[in-house]
Amino acid sequence: MNPQQITVLGATGSIGLSTLDVIARHPGRYRAFALTGFTRLDELKALCLRFRPRYAVVPESGAARRLEDELHAAGLATRVLAGSEGLCEVAAHPEVDAVMAAIVGAAGLRPTLAAVEAGKKVLLANKEALVMSGALFMQAVRRSGAQLLPIDSEHNAIFQCLPSGYGQGLAAVGVRRILLTASGGPFRETPAAELADVTPAQACAHPNWSMGRKISVDSASMMNKGLELIEACWLFDARPAQVEVVVHPQSVIHSLVDYVDGSVLAQLGNPDMRTPIAHALAWPERIDSGVAPLDLFAIARLDFQAPDELRFPCLRLARQAAEAGGSAPAMLNAANEVAVAAFLDGRVRFPEIASIIGEVLQDEPVVTIDDLEAVLLADGQARARAEGWLRRHNR
Ligand code: NAD
Ligand code: MG
Repeated sequence: MNPQQITVLGATGSIGLSTLDVIARHPGRYRAFALTGFTRLDELKALCLRFRPRYAVVPESGAARRLEDELHAAGLATRVLAGSEGLCEVAAHPEVDAVMAAIVGAAGLRPTLAAVEAGKKVLLANKEALVMSGALFMQAVRRSGAQLLPIDSEHNAIFQCLPSGYGQGLAAVGVRRILLTASGGPFRETPAAELADVTPAQACAHPNWSMGRKISVDSASMMNKGLELIEACWLFDARPAQVEVVVHPQSVIHSLVDYVDGSVLAQLGNPDMRTPIAHALAWPERIDSGVAPLDLFAIARLDFQAPDELRFPCLRLARQAAEAGGSAPAMLNAANEVAVAAFLDGRVRFPEIASIIGEVLQDEPVVTIDDLEAVLLADGQARARAEGWLRRHNR
């Protein structure tokens, strides 16, 4: 059998590199077809030299020509494309079998949708794309016959704990609720009064997972869990009330499914993204991921707590957006992206992330979303509102 051709959108990121690590363990089974990067183009070049992809994609055409020349000088025939069009081209290319959607944030929406519309096997890490465009995204999956496999560890766990017929609705397969686990992040026990003074470095120092900076801040604010609540509703056709967040500091149980007969199924594993990546790449088969076996004796205990929505208002805001539907999740996501970038730049304090999002959601009316233009409009309006907050506060 020929190796499967894999496009890795966001190859230079944390998920992209973990994906390439798994691919490298199975050279007869998977081949990197296209690798994309946005900053750190030297690292993209090194990845190209190692994985020899057919295509690479960079942000603009000058950088594309430079990289292509350098790769040709090194004896590679890699074609280097530029910008959003280049990303969509390698996501939908007829020779591609599977697309790892691992660009962070709204920037991943178009190429991820392009992969879905082309009917690919789509390995979804870029949760923001689904949060923004939920109904449209899932309609496109159904229309094209794309196979959507969740990479987010929690959603991958839920997928593994559900029977294959869950597409008929959770009630039809006897599911009472989904228990979405959360580590609680680096500030799980930080008193509210101290959150105003936490630094970006502290927010990015996650106790269990090593991740990109944006998702690390989202984990610290628990907006990550809020986005994941919305993600779970779309992936598994759940109502927000059917998804309960459970704080589980060890990050060993990656989520659980509670059935009407009282059975609760969980997926456990070491906190290493190569497990869900390998699961989704090989599904329905299983392959080695390089992750060490789970040592329950070393872990010894598993703890659970209810989330504290007073200290972590982002979780409450996300639940409200999930319940409001329409453009609300896209606005929540956009306001969060602006606020997190400003926090990482040292322009706003940590608790102000929630203030900015709360104000944007309060000021912008919720509208229905019928097409991609409506999603992008809501995204742009929310970004403008959030920028307005920054200006008014002289940031
Ligand atoms: P990262 O910051 O490490 O990597 C992001 C990647 O996206 C990089 O390759 C970067 O070059 C690319 N990128 C950034 N901005 C871009 C733009 N405007 N256009 C094109 N490419 C752009 O992030 P990450 O931690 O790998 O996360 C990637 C996605 O996976 C996020 O949506 C995140 O929520 C999700 N995710 C990550 C983890 C994790 O453990 N890291 C777990 C679950 C879900
Ligand atoms: Mg997750």
